[in-house]
Amino acid sequence: MTAHLPETKRKYDLTFARWVSRNVHGGDKLNMCMQCGVCSGSCPLGEQMDYGPRRLFMMIRAGMKDEVMKSDTIWNCVACYRSEVRCPRGVPVTHILDSLSVVAVREGYAEAKNAETTRFAKAFWWSAKKFGLTDERLVTALYYFSGGIGEGIRKGMANQKIALRMIGKKRMHVGMPRKIKRRGELKKILAKAVEIENRNDAAAGEEVKS
Ligand code: SF4
Repeated sequence: MTAHLPETKRKYDLTFARWVSRNVHGGDKLNMCMQCGVCSGSCPLGEQMDYGPRRLFMMIRAGMKDEVMKSDTIWNCVACYRSEVRCPRGVPVTHILDSLSVVAVREGYAEAKNAETTRFAKAFWWSAKKFGLTDERLVTALYYFSGGIGEGIRKGMANQKIALRMIGKKRMHVGMPRKIKRRGELKKILAKAVEIENRNDAAAGEEVKS
């Protein structure tokens, strides 16, 4: 009798782990992971993630590219670094998750699913670039209204009590936006960062093609 392997409907990309190793910051350390689960057990946001970091790293090894790139694990990491400092094998967990999110956007996996995250990130960056600081009122307003006037009013009304309490406890600034000194220097730093990022992206693109 001839034994047949069970048919699998899931797509596996067996080159994915090597690709991550070459193109994701810290990805070359993934082969150090011994699947102990300390990272997932340490993560304060673990319950909000599709998969904990340990499982996500196993999925990378297994070539489950689509599931990894579409998972919300890479978006819900708040970069508290608990997993990274506790990992007994020195795997840069936070850096890997962060870099995977950049790659997911670049490869077209993330835009629709994470529109909220993208909109918030844009508002955050607008303030950081303009003032050198994040003005929580302007960031919040920009984020709320980026989904339309109706959504902005709805979210503003829903959270107005929190805002008033924050003002009362001097946790939210009132008045003109605060700015750092020497914002010209910040602009030069950010322009250099964009230049480096573009250069790295171009190099990664060449590597993928070759
Ligand atoms: S703590 Fe480190 S070694 Fe353990 S599963 Fe997480 S990444 Fe792997």
